[in-house]
Amino acid sequence: MIAALKALFGRGGAPAAAEPADAPARQLALVIDLNVCVGCHACVTSCKEWNTGGAAGPLFDDNPYGANPTGTFFNRVQTYEAGAFPNTETVHFPKSCLHCEDPPCVPVCPTGASYKRKSDGIVLVDYDKCIGCKYCAWACPYGARELDEARQVMTKCTLCVDRIEDATLAADDRKPACVKACPTGARLFGDVKDPDSEVSRAIRERGGYSLMPEWQTRPANQYLPRRVTSVARGTASADVGAEGNLRASVPGAADAGSASGRRR
Ligand code: SF4
Ligand code: SF4
Ligand code: SF4
Repeated sequence: MIAALKALFGRGGAPAAAEPADAPARQLALVIDLNVCVGCHACVTSCKEWNTGGAAGPLFDDNPYGANPTGTFFNRVQTYEAGAFPNTETVHFPKSCLHCEDPPCVPVCPTGASYKRKSDGIVLVDYDKCIGCKYCAWACPYGARELDEARQVMTKCTLCVDRIEDATLAADDRKPACVKACPTGARLFGDVKDPDSEVSRAIRERGGYSLMPEWQTRPANQYLPRRVTSVARGTASADVGAEGNLRASVPGAADAGSASGRRR
């Protein structure tokens, strides 16, 4: 938990491992701006609706919104209270599969059902090959995989491959369902290996960082850090305004270690 909160608030951890020679030339990913995420869960429900919410989804859920809304969720938002009273902050942290560039969930799969696509780096599960052994879920350090209990196959975020490659959709609709649904524009989508893409610019200019880099999985998804407000600092000064101050104010590991980390 502490490691996760350190990663959540700052950019600590071990340096990323070197990229292998056969790494995909493209790497599609999500970049999530923690500064503007308001924890509304629109990304959660739109993801579920598109992927598992009805008979049209690749893994439909028989009763997605009933009295016992269990079933699989590819994307979840965890909410934490950080800091010490009275200087506390509420932090919303959306998390789905990070489409790691060195994904430990892939080599452990005994049937080859888990794989990383060469064309764009998306990590997928072939449901026809999956035997539900859960090795991949144990190997994933981020808890990003969920077994579909009804069908006994492992599931996870696909970056909505069936949307982003659907030529019948308008170009602006060929985006993940969660990106389309987010009311604050907190979720960006694109190729993190294209230096001119929107996601690469955001990572470069706004201090994007990986979740728990110490696992050496090289997550493709990145997070843009929250700026620190006067409330969180426990000072009476005005909130950070200029971009330079904003980036300089990202707290380090010592601050993160004091976060209470209560999950709601
Ligand atoms: Fe695999 Fe987990 Fe990385 Fe997704 S986040 S690619 S499931 S190790
Ligand atoms: Fe869900 Fe698609 Fe977003 Fe992944 S990219 S979290 S599958 S909506
Ligand atoms: Fe945050 Fe956007 Fe998801 Fe709402 S839809 S919880 S603002 S990422």
